[in-house]
Amino acid sequence: MKIKQIEVFAIHLPLIKPFIISYATYPHISSIIVKLTTECGQIGWGESVPDEHITGETPASTYALIKNTLAPLMIGKNPMEFEKIHDLMDKTVKRAPAAKAAIDIACFDVVGKKLGVPVYQLIGGRYHEKFPVTHVLSIGAPEQMADEAEEKVNEGYTSFKMKVGVNIADDVNRIKAVRERVGEEIAIRVDVNQGWENSANTLSALRHLEDLGIDWLEQPVDQNDIDGMVEIKSKSSIPQMIDEGIKDMKDMREIIAKRAADKVNIKLMKCGGIYPAMKLANMAEMAGIECQVGSMVESSIGSAAGFHVAFSKKIMKSVELTGPLKFSKDIGDLKESYQIPFIQLNERPGLGVTVDESILAELTQQSNIIE
Ligand SMILES: [Mg+2]
Repeated sequence: MKIKQIEVFAIHLPLIKPFIISYATYPHISSIIVKLTTECGQIGWGESVPDEHITGETPASTYALIKNTLAPLMIGKNPMEFEKIHDLMDKTVKRAPAAKAAIDIACFDVVGKKLGVPVYQLIGGRYHEKFPVTHVLSIGAPEQMADEAEEKVNEGYTSFKMKVGVNIADDVNRIKAVRERVGEEIAIRVDVNQGWENSANTLSALRHLEDLGIDWLEQPVDQNDIDGMVEIKSKSSIPQMIDEGIKDMKDMREIIAKRAADKVNIKLMKCGGIYPAMKLANMAEMAGIECQVGSMVESSIGSAAGFHVAFSKKIMKSVELTGPLKFSKDIGDLKESYQIPFIQLNERPGLGVTVDESILAELTQQSNIIE
């Protein structure tokens, strides 16, 4: 099997509501879609949703890198040779994990379709039958976040991820308001997205949060401050998750060596796709660090890829891939797999996503064909 053609599309995915986190507000999500065609006519879909705050990649740089460098590099290559494909990409371009993820995901999709099996069968087989779907609460006024949480509990949700990280006093009020409103049975995770900046601020915030039954606190400090995480973890009873601070194997080695986290949030866009994500999961497993698969708010394609990783590994304890629920229009049909409060994958080959090419055309800002 050889790759014959790669088509690349820059698209805007329209959000139902703007997505607000500590470092950015998103009116829509900019995504790069890859359509890979083999000589035998099989089609595989991939996606890149870069986040310049984390990997330094922008939508424009990612589009250019795929179009000018990675896609031409892949023509004539065998998409089944994942190790070789990543080695070739890594030798040609340092880092740029989101761009590489689009190629990686398209290769897994096309190989799964060729063999007639879901992607999870290529990476260990399905271990989990289903995962709870967590609702993400964007940063807002405490009462507003509590209102939204109450609404979602009534819809059947049993867990929330609260986005905070503006200032500590307001953030503590936000978390207290949501906890008071939803009661003690509902799971609450708190994601600071680096907003508390350092360990001193974080430890002062944690003094107010110890009794609120928080499952875990995610990335309170700067992504490069692994030593700050070590200090927080040693002084707090709330489990600590690293997100922005874990991108590649080098980061994971440091986290393991310093015992800097109880959990890590693995995202395909930070590490380069399905294949590198499995390597990170294996490293975490060896060190007894629990994993979550998260996302950059991706369409059905990127979200499905993340789910295949999550469903195939025992060490994966939670998922946060809610992109398809956040868009008013999506290019794929993964939304059908969300049966709130659970997500369950279908058994179709490859990613198991059917792409609607008329919606893709409608959302496309720019496209190119490489062959
Ligand atoms: Mg996070």
